[in-house]
Amino acid sequence: MLDIIPIPAFADNYIWLLHDGRHAAVVDPGEAGPVHDYLERHGLSLGAILCTHHHGDHVGGIAELRKVYNVPVYGPREEHIAGITHPLTAGDTVSLPELGLKLGVIDIRGHTRGHIGYLLPGSPGGVFCGDTLFGCGCGRLFEGSMEELFNSLRRLAELPDDTPVYCAHEYTQANIHFALACEPGNARLKQREADTRALRAANRPTLPSTIALEKATNPFLRCAEPEVIRAAQQFGGATETGELAVFSALRNWKNHFS
Ligand SMILES: [Zn+2]
Repeated sequence: MLDIIPIPAFADNYIWLLHDGRHAAVVDPGEAGPVHDYLERHGLSLGAILCTHHHGDHVGGIAELRKVYNVPVYGPREEHIAGITHPLTAGDTVSLPELGLKLGVIDIRGHTRGHIGYLLPGSPGGVFCGDTLFGCGCGRLFEGSMEELFNSLRRLAELPDDTPVYCAHEYTQANIHFALACEPGNARLKQREADTRALRAANRPTLPSTIALEKATNPFLRCAEPEVIRAAQQFGGATETGELAVFSALRNWKNHFS
């Protein structure tokens, strides 16, 4: 039976570890120490390393892990990441035979030029979306275009509602403050704020989320909602009401929001 565990790293990163009690794979090991400790402590053998994009807090542990575990390293073909042995493009499949898994690769660029995501098959399956979609928020736009990031989020929103969303940072609580500024009248969002506060007070992760929860509470996936459009116009300077224009206004507004 597959288990998926968030290993905390740095201030607010999660390195997701998939394991069946014997074999394991990790997604976005920004540092090696916490991964190594977890594997040792639980007697797991690492079979693969997967990366979503090139930022140091997602790939910084690859070299050190590979000194100990000589395993394949998967990552986006379009980005330069030292240590990648298996470059990937959208539509490729990653086979993890030790875990009996085949993961799909999707293109979710925007945060970076070649950002990819990994789809876990089955029901509920899952998606490892790196820094593209966060609990109640989305990644910053660093290298792609606004339209690319918008389309990537739309692609994620099209996944089945019950799909677990494995984000790479614990940003949910701060993101909810912004979401409430966008949609103060969203009852589901208010409930999420209460749930999130309780989880964080107990020092527990707010992730994985689900696609359904994100569609109900994440303003970046709700750019056609009248209340979100109004907020984008009032505070984000949106002059048009199309979804991309609203998304773009929210993303820019969020950069300065505190
Ligand atoms: Zn990043």
